[in-house]
Amino acid sequence: MSDTADWPWSAPVAGAAVYRTSYVPKTLGEIKLNHNEAPDDLDADLKAEILLRLGQLPWHRYADPDASRTCEALARHTGHLRAGIAVGHGANELISRLMFAIAPATTVVLVDPDYYVHGRAALLAGHKLRRVALLRRDDKFILDIQGIIEAAGAGPALLILSQPNNPTGSLFDAVAVDQLLDQFPGAVVLDEAYAEFSGVTRQAELATRPNLAILRTMSKAFALAGARIGYLLASPEFVTNINKLQPPYPVSEWQGVAAEVVLAHPERAAQRVEAVRVERQRLQAGLRALGVETLDSYGNFVLAVLAQRRPAVLAALLQAELAVRDVGDLPGAAGCLRLSVGAPAANDRLLAALQAGLGG
Ligand code: PMP
Repeated sequence: MSDTADWPWSAPVAGAAVYRTSYVPKTLGEIKLNHNEAPDDLDADLKAEILLRLGQLPWHRYADPDASRTCEALARHTGHLRAGIAVGHGANELISRLMFAIAPATTVVLVDPDYYVHGRAALLAGHKLRRVALLRRDDKFILDIQGIIEAAGAGPALLILSQPNNPTGSLFDAVAVDQLLDQFPGAVVLDEAYAEFSGVTRQAELATRPNLAILRTMSKAFALAGARIGYLLASPEFVTNINKLQPPYPVSEWQGVAAEVVLAHPERAAQRVEAVRVERQRLQAGLRALGVETLDSYGNFVLAVLAQRRPAVLAALLQAELAVRDVGDLPGAAGCLRLSVGAPAANDRLLAALQAGLGG
């Protein structure tokens, strides 16, 4: 045997770089507005309840292989049937699972710009990617329906898009989404990671549209990004198929307890969402007052269109220890920064740093 084992690693997949985004290790005083997290930590009483329940669990026992309690809590919360719910280690893991569950060499249609992980997961699973640029109309981005349908081609096809869109914050028009659901010749996955902020979901149509699945997360409105809990709503058939690829314990007992406790207090998420909406409006008004174009947003983040002022603004924000997401390298988002809506003090600091960066 040689010293250096010949590991059968797969070759790197072109275009599917390691997902790092703009993760920056926390520094003292740093304000994270780069990952669209909830502005504040989970309520202290809910954290205490989770910790208490974790202390009562036998940790040497494996978790429930079906994550039944978590799925039942999600069924109660969403009103969707239990058999049509899959849970995973964040929506990200469900996106990967989905890509490996569908037929090899499926044509995966994406819009540009959109959430980077969709394309990366599709490439890693060996699918054919077709990217269709969003069209800019006034203060929002809209879907190129014809382009998307044509991109599907003749073989098996899957369309995945975030609604509202990340990073633009745009909410696609109901009529356009209807057209896609009616006419796209394949499966459609709506990534509704920010649905609590937009108040818009296609969940009611799952019963009548077998080609539709919806992704959600507890990382945003539920302030549990660190716990990694995502879920998918679809038909029982769809869930059976995606769960063929499910790891033996889709969520740990700890994740399950965190989800159950937080879902038992939906009013906390509702308050958080309302507070974010108020701050989002204030942040956008502040940006516009500084002469920065920003599109209407339906998420917990806003897109700031800075064009050639982007590098100077980015430098000023970093100087003020404000981490934001530089999306200037994404097709369709050149010259833009994505700013998560933070707590009021963070947003004040963001606006002040922006003003400095703009030379004001
Ligand atoms: N979908 C979209 C559109 C997102 O923006 C994100 C997180 N940034 C995710 C999915 C991933 O969510 P999770 O934390 O549950 O993996």
